[in-house]
Amino acid sequence: MNFVCASKAITLKDFDRIRRTCMGDEKITPIMDTFIGDLKVIDLLKSTVTIEVANDDFFTKNMCEVCLNALFAVYKFKKQCQNTEAALKLLADNAFGTTTTLKEEGIS
Ligand SMILES: [Zn+2]
Repeated sequence: MNFVCASKAITLKDFDRIRRTCMGDEKITPIMDTFIGDLKVIDLLKSTVTIEVANDDFFTKNMCEVCLNALFAVYKFKKQCQNTEAALKLLADNAFGTTTTLKEEGIS
């Protein structure tokens, strides 16, 4: 996966033109109205990279397609990790009782 970052000087005058997550000025997508599948981009930003976008904040509310794809990849990785963790804990709970027991016994 390639991430494209614009490494150029910007000023406050550029805020309405640049993207929220990369400072690039490529094709824009409005954050507030965009979904990836049935997931709201604004919610994905908050839950994955802890960026909160509000209508009344000072910053741009646009993203580029590269960043949208990266955001979805991060979301998928987070879900994969959470699902794996839950499965491992369930397996350990079934085998040993509780994961707390594993820590106490130095197995984990
Ligand atoms: Zn971008």
